[in-house]
Amino acid sequence: MTEPRNPATHGSAASQALFDRARVVTPGGVNSPVRAFHAVGGTPRFVTSARGPYLLDADGNEYVDLIGSWGPMILGHAHPEVIAAVTRAVSAGTSYGTPTRPEVELAEEIVARTPIEQVRFVSSGTEATMSAIRLARGVTGRAKLVKFAGCYHGHVDALLASAGSGVATFGHPDSPGVTGAQAGDTLVVPYNDRAAVSDVFARYGEEIAAIITEAAPGNMGAVPPEDGFNEFLAATAHEHGALFISDEVMTGFRVSRSGWYGIDGVAADLVTFGKVMGGGFPAAAFGGKAAHMERLSPAGPVYQAGTLAGNPVATTAGLTTLRLADAQVYAHLDRTAATIAGLVGEALTKEGVPHLPQFAGNLFSIFFVDPTEVPRVRNFDDARSQAQHRFRAFFHAMLDGGVHLPPSAFEAWFVSAAHDEEALERIASALPAAARAAAAAEPDPAPTAETADPTQQERS
Ligand SMILES: *Cc1c(COP(=O)(O)O)cnc(C)c1O
Repeated sequence: MTEPRNPATHGSAASQALFDRARVVTPGGVNSPVRAFHAVGGTPRFVTSARGPYLLDADGNEYVDLIGSWGPMILGHAHPEVIAAVTRAVSAGTSYGTPTRPEVELAEEIVARTPIEQVRFVSSGTEATMSAIRLARGVTGRAKLVKFAGCYHGHVDALLASAGSGVATFGHPDSPGVTGAQAGDTLVVPYNDRAAVSDVFARYGEEIAAIITEAAPGNMGAVPPEDGFNEFLAATAHEHGALFISDEVMTGFRVSRSGWYGIDGVAADLVTFGKVMGGGFPAAAFGGKAAHMERLSPAGPVYQAGTLAGNPVATTAGLTTLRLADAQVYAHLDRTAATIAGLVGEALTKEGVPHLPQFAGNLFSIFFVDPTEVPRVRNFDDARSQAQHRFRAFFHAMLDGGVHLPPSAFEAWFVSAAHDEEALERIASALPAAARAAAAAEPDPAPTAETADPTQQERS
């Protein structure tokens, strides 16, 4: 094993120089907020290449990668068979604006693994949920949506809504630029809270087009649905003539070959996919029963379209990735997630740092909560009770030790088929210093007007 180069010895001057340039020409220097390290501070690392479980940055530092491009890189980076298939596809031209064979094959593969009968490709998870919502509204002729606080479904206007005060309330815009009308059609309820769901349906059932939920939330950290929760959501929606939309953009083809559906078997009316199914390219999808999907243009009246939707290079990358992710890969992901969570737990326990590991399949998070006070993180409020100062210190010590965690305490950690013994050893050797840093971290000062709501989720 060659000695990995890491920031403790090689610094981050080249990344900082790129970040300085980027901030002149791009808002905040990044093209998606979480990359800017706002939640943890410091210099985001500009990556120049990646192979297997490792990222290489502009300063020549190597990191064990626990972001995995926020999910897609289930086989590890630059998998030779994916690269070969993509190279062949690229050589045949990159986009035609006509139908192609790989789209049909990828659609068949997805339909075969999931409860959906038809699928439509789009270019991002945001587009997938936006389109699924439009379809649900078109099918039901109703306007309102139910979503859960802490679930993220992309930057769709209607879904950038947060709960106001009170129990079950109409959403308030969670971002300037979202209108009160867009957010006001969204009812925001706490996750894993059946009473709150029943309550909004009792009051507004006839106006509700759909419930949308992450199949198993990974965007407030890993917060799995309690037993029977998704089944309850589907039944409640159906009782009131609404649709149940399961957002599998993160879980789809990652937690099992059939996504979260492969774990809990709850068949949603509409399902959204992204991340893994694009194999590292911009590709996403939504699908459902044929009766619903055939309401989409050109088969039906609900309009939806995309110039690069079903792009042949992206669909080839996705199809190759899905076919290579066999039962052994999923077994490896489950084992590796458990091993890493175990190693982190041991190191933190040794330093007396309160923490709670949680899993949603092979997605996992280490919450910096005190399990004697919060025995289970069930919802966003629980997730927000974390000692974020400990996460920040832990994150930076891991980064200095050559392990790149997601730069926010509200994210799941992602492993791949390429995370092998050596990668695990590197994680293990970075942990003692990181656990000490977490133990020594000082609590945050009281928030000022400028730092208020530091817990607002920032997205990949
Ligand atoms: C990432 C994500 C999205 C958004 O996907 P983008 O491709 O980033 O637009 C939507 N839903 C969930 C559950 C996600 O994790």
